[in-house]
Amino acid sequence: MGGVSGRACIVTGAAQGIGRAIGEALLDEGAHVCFADINKARLAEVAGENEERAARGGARITHFAVDVTERAEVRAMVAHAVGVFGRLDVKFNNAGVNKPMNFLDVTEENWDFIMRVNGLGCLIGMQEAARQMIAQGTGGKIINTASIASRQGFGNVAPYCASKSAVVSLTQSGARDLARHGITVTAFAPGVVATEMWREVDRDLMEIGAATRPGQAMEEFAAGILRGRVATPADIVGTTTFLASRDSDYMTGQVVMIDGGMTLI
Ligand code: NAD
Repeated sequence: MGGVSGRACIVTGAAQGIGRAIGEALLDEGAHVCFADINKARLAEVAGENEERAARGGARITHFAVDVTERAEVRAMVAHAVGVFGRLDVKFNNAGVNKPMNFLDVTEENWDFIMRVNGLGCLIGMQEAARQMIAQGTGGKIINTASIASRQGFGNVAPYCASKSAVVSLTQSGARDLARHGITVTAFAPGVVATEMWREVDRDLMEIGAATRPGQAMEEFAAGILRGRVATPADIVGTTTFLASRDSDYMTGQVVMIDGGMTLI
C-alpha cells in the first residue's frame, strides 16, 4: 500500500497499544507521524524506539504530550506537527479510556471521566484537525477509534458503550459537515484487542465481581469471536493504514468493524 507515503499524520493514544501500532505501521509505509499521548514518559520512549524505523521508511517522526480533552493542548499539538511536517493530512483520534462498573453502580464521576476522554476528546480532535486542513485548503482524513461497544451495550461498561456510540455519531456528523472541505471522516471498530487497556479491564471486572479469575473475561469474550481468538494491535493496522491512504478516498462516514466477527450487522 503506497497511499500514505509522505503524508503528515497525528496519532493520539500512541504511547502504547493500538495507537502505537497505528503510528508504527504508518512509519513503515513512509508516512510522517506525530505520536501524541498524555503519558509523557512512555511517549518519549516510544518516539526514541521508533527513530530507526522512521529513518528506514524515509519518514519523519515527532512526538507531543497532550491531554485530548484540553482544546489549547490539542491546538498546540496540531501546530507542533505542522511546524515539523509543514502540513497535516491525517488525524487519528484514538486515545481512549475505560473503567468498568456494574450498571447500577455507575457514578457521575465514572460517566464524566469516560465521556470526557472518549467523546469530548474525539470532538475536539476532529475540530482542531479540520480547522488546520481547511486552512491548508488540501482536504484530509480524520479517523476515529470506535469499538464493538459502539454497536452493542454491555452491562458493566455502560458509559464506555455510550462514549463509543458517540464516536460513531461524531464520525457521521463530521463526515456530513466536512465533506464540502474535502475532508473525509471514518472510524474503525476493534473487538477485543490484547493491550494494557484490556489487562486493566480484566482486573476491574474481577474487582466488581464480574469475573472470578484473571483472564476469564477475555476468554468469555473470545468464545464468541468467529476468528477464534482475540486480536493483537497487528491485526488492526492493515485497516488503519488503508483508512489513512489514498486507496480509501471515496469512503466517508463509515465504521469498519475489525472484530474477528463478533458483531454481525
Ligand atoms: P491503551 O490503554 O493501551 O492505550 C490508550 C492510550 O491512550 C494510552 O497510552 C493512554 O495514556 C492514552 N490516553 C488516555 N487518556 C488520554 C488523554 N486524555 N489524552 C491523551 N492520551 C490519553 O488502550 P488501547 O487498547 O490501545 O485502546 C486504544 C483505543 O482503542 C481506545 O480508544 C479504545 O477505547 C479503543 N478500543 C480498544 C479495544 C481493546 O480491546 N483494547 C477495543 C475496542 C476499542
